[in-house]
Amino acid sequence: MTDSSELTSRVHLVTATPWQQAVDCYFNPDDDVDIDDLRFGFPGRWDAGDLFVVVTTDSHTPAIIVVEESETDSDATRSHEHTYMGPFDFGLSIAAVEARLATTLPAEAATLAPKLGERLLQAIESEASDPTSWRELDERGCLADVADWPPHDSWAPCACCGRHSYDGVELEQHALADEHEQEFFGFGPLTVCMPCHDRLHRPLAPGADDVMFGFRPLCPSCSAMRTFRVIWGMPAGPPGPGTDIAGCVITSPFTPEYRCGECDYVWTDDDEAYRPLPPEDTDARVRARIDTAPPGVYRPFSRVTEPGRVIVGDYMARQVSSSSAWGPGVVHEL
Ligand SMILES: [Zn+2]
Ligand SMILES: [Zn+2]
Ligand SMILES: [Zn+2]
Repeated sequence: MTDSSELTSRVHLVTATPWQQAVDCYFNPDDDVDIDDLRFGFPGRWDAGDLFVVVTTDSHTPAIIVVEESETDSDATRSHEHTYMGPFDFGLSIAAVEARLATTLPAEAATLAPKLGERLLQAIESEASDPTSWRELDERGCLADVADWPPHDSWAPCACCGRHSYDGVELEQHALADEHEQEFFGFGPLTVCMPCHDRLHRPLAPGADDVMFGFRPLCPSCSAMRTFRVIWGMPAGPPGPGTDIAGCVITSPFTPEYRCGECDYVWTDDDEAYRPLPPEDTDARVRARIDTAPPGVYRPFSRVTEPGRVIVGDYMARQVSSSSAWGPGVVHEL
């Protein structure tokens, strides 16, 4: 950004809803994301060179997602912007920025007075480099809520990452705010480790169920994100949502570790459980692992193409080369 003491352009607040589609618009590299309902609310007039502070107003915690500079004025038939600051991973809390400014900002699209606009940019820069802890503001009232609850069960692992207190993490309780989270986990408090609790309180964090599934591999067969962990034998306590209890009898040639919630494909991450593909076999459905990208091959980060991911599909030997996702030595018979 330019030195804000020389700022001559005006600063406008621009709203973006629904917030999940704004997040997808700025952060999701997959080409099939649904942003059809994404709407931006602009102030009445602006000039080329003005700055838009884009705010998600319908998120649990209203948040700044990006600051953009407009290349066109409000009379242009098509607006063009480029990024000025951000985009900010998981958002910057508006309440935290307001606390730095010691004033409240308009809740709708608005053009700010020059002095306030300048101070806002400084506050955004400070908040981006040293974010205020959610525990200071407790915007969602989680700390106030959980103070009244009995302590969590000592055997319970973190509902998101699955770690226990004996793994060296401190566990605490989190109040679920969202209806779909309550449907998935139930209405009680959720036991989570401190790092996951911090993850859940980022202004533009996904729900606790999505944070949990984010720790799991994608389905190798259909790329679904909601994959269930399979637990064998008798666990110490109820396994919790997102987990299958499989009893003690293993019927497949390997011990399944995961089950896809969409297509029911079961697999283990352990390559040793599968036989390597005979070299003469050219027409088989196989299990493979996406290779790391060789130098010079551009592969933007996406969970679907992330290096090391297990995938299954039809094997075509002629397409396997050193630059292929299906690198040598990683193909297994299904
Ligand atoms: Zn955790
Ligand atoms: Zn919480
Ligand atoms: Zn699947």
